[in-house]
Amino acid sequence: MSFDLVVIGAGPGGYVCAIRAAQLGMKAAVVDKRQTPGGTCLNIGCIPSKALLYASEMFEEAGHAMAPLGVVVPAPKLDLAAMMKHKDDTVAANVNGVAFLFKKNKIDWVQGEARIAAPGKVAVKGADGNDKALEAKAIVIATGSEVARLPGVEIDEKTIVSSTGALSLPGVPKKLIVVGAGIIGLELGSVWRRLGAEVTVIEFLDRILPGMDGEVARQFQRMLQKQGFAFHLGHKVTKIETSGGGVKAVIEPTAGGEAKALEADVALIAIGRRPFTENLGLQALGVAMDGGQVVVDAHFATSVPGLYAIGDVIHGPMLAHKAEDEGVALAEILAGQAGHVNYDAIPNVVYTNPEIAAVGKTEEELKAVGAAYKVGRFPFTANGRARAMRKTEGFVKLLADAATDRLIGAHVVGFGAGEMIHEAVVLMEFGGSAEDLARTCHAHPTLSEAVKEAAMAVDGRAIHI
Ligand SMILES: Cc1cc2nc3c(=O)[nH]c(=O)nc-3n(C[C@H](O)[C@H](O)[C@H](O)COP(=O)(O)OP(=O)(O)OC[C@H]3O[C@@H](n4cnc5c(N)ncnc54)[C@H](O)[C@@H]3O)c2cc1C
Repeated sequence: MSFDLVVIGAGPGGYVCAIRAAQLGMKAAVVDKRQTPGGTCLNIGCIPSKALLYASEMFEEAGHAMAPLGVVVPAPKLDLAAMMKHKDDTVAANVNGVAFLFKKNKIDWVQGEARIAAPGKVAVKGADGNDKALEAKAIVIATGSEVARLPGVEIDEKTIVSSTGALSLPGVPKKLIVVGAGIIGLELGSVWRRLGAEVTVIEFLDRILPGMDGEVARQFQRMLQKQGFAFHLGHKVTKIETSGGGVKAVIEPTAGGEAKALEADVALIAIGRRPFTENLGLQALGVAMDGGQVVVDAHFATSVPGLYAIGDVIHGPMLAHKAEDEGVALAEILAGQAGHVNYDAIPNVVYTNPEIAAVGKTEEELKAVGAAYKVGRFPFTANGRARAMRKTEGFVKLLADAATDRLIGAHVVGFGAGEMIHEAVVLMEFGGSAEDLARTCHAHPTLSEAVKEAAMAVDGRAIHI
C-alpha cells in the first residue's frame, strides 16, 4: 500500500498531522500499536486524568464548599466504580471521535507495531499476526513518550504505580506517596486526596512545579498544604519497595542528613516522561538523536531525508497541544505551505484546584538573562465575581518588557486559570502590549477582569486595589 504520508503514533501529534494532511489532499495512514487511537493523551493521559479531576472536585465541593452558598447537601458518598466508569466513558467518547475523524477524512487506520525498514518503507507487525508493508513519500515519527523510571524501582501498577495505574486504582488508598512534585504528580495526588487519601509528596528539588514561575509555585504549595498535602522537598528516594500489602520508601535530604522511612498503601512514581523510540529502527537508519529525543530542524525534518518527527519525541514541552500544533505545521510544510509553531506562546496548565496556567517567560528566566521587565499583579480577593463564587484564592501576574511594554509572560493561579490564560496567549501571538490588554474592555463581573487589572497594574494603575 502506498501513501503520501505514513504517521507512526496516533496521539495528538500524529492523528492531527494526518487529518490536516488529508484536508490538504494527501493520502495518509496512521499506525498505532494501541487498540484505540488518541495516544497517551486520550487513553491514559490528559483526558482520563481530567475526568477524574473534575469528578473528584465535584465530590469535594459537595462535601465542603456548598454549605456557605446555602446549598446544603447530605455528606456525599463516593461511588468509585461509577467515577471510574465516567472516566472510561469519557475516554471511549474521545477515542471513538478520533476513529470517526479518520473515516471522515479517508485516513487508513492501521493497528500494529511499526518499524521503519528503510526511508519510505514502514513494516507493521499486526496484533492479529497480519503483517503489512506500507510505502510513503514521507514518514512521521509521532511515537510520544513513556513514564520515566526510578532506577531499581519496579512499577507493578498496583502498589507502586505510574500515572497509568494511578488512573485506575481499585480503591482509595489511606496513604499515598507521590514521588515527584511536577504537574502529573500534583494532579493525580489531588484526585486521591479529594477522595480521602493522605498524600505525601517527595521532591528532589527544593520547590514544586519545576520550570514554572517561583512565586506561583511557592504560593501554590501553601494552598496545597492547606488542602492537606504534606511535602518533603529537597529529598531523594533512596529505596522504595512493596512491604506487607503496601509500600515502604526511604528518603534522604539532598543536602545530607538523616534518612527517614515512610509507609503508605500506594506509591505513585511521577518523576517525568522520556521520549519513546524503542524498536523503531532509528539507530540502523542513522537518525540523529540527542538524549533520547529525535533531532529535527525547524521544518521537523530528521537527519534522514523523508523522515520527520513531532510531539513528545522531539524537543520542547511534552504537551498535547504542542504536539497538535506541530502536527498541523508539518502537514502544511509537506503540502508546500508555511507551517510554523511559535514556541514562545505555548500555554501550560496545571488542572488542580485552583488551576495554574502560564505562558511565556517566568521571572526567574528573565532575571537569568538580565532582562528589564515590569510586573503587574492582581489578586482574586479583589475581584467581584470571585467573591460571589467564593473562589478568591490566587492571583494574576503579568510580565512586560520594560522598554516596549510587550507582554512576555503571564501566570495565573485561580479558579478557571486554564481558560483565562488564552487572552494572554492570543495577545502574545500578536506581539501585543500590557497596555493593549489594559485598554481592552472586559465584561463585568468576570474572573477575566483580574487579567485586565493585572495589565493595568503593570503601569501602576489597577483600579480595584
Ligand atoms: C497522566 C497524564 C496527564 C497528562 N495531562 C496532560 C494535559 O492535561 N495536557 C497536556 O497538554 N498534556 C498532558 N499530558 C501529556 C500528553 O499526553 C502528551 O504530551 C501527548 O500525548 C504527546 O502526544 P504525542 O502525539 O507526541 O504522543 P503520544 O500521545 O504519546 O502518542 C504516541 C503513540 O505512539 C504509539 N507508538 C509508539 N511506538 C510505536 C510503534 N513503534 N508503532 C506503532 N505505534 C507506536 C503509542 O502507542 C502511542 O499511542 C499528560 C500525560 C500524562 C501521562
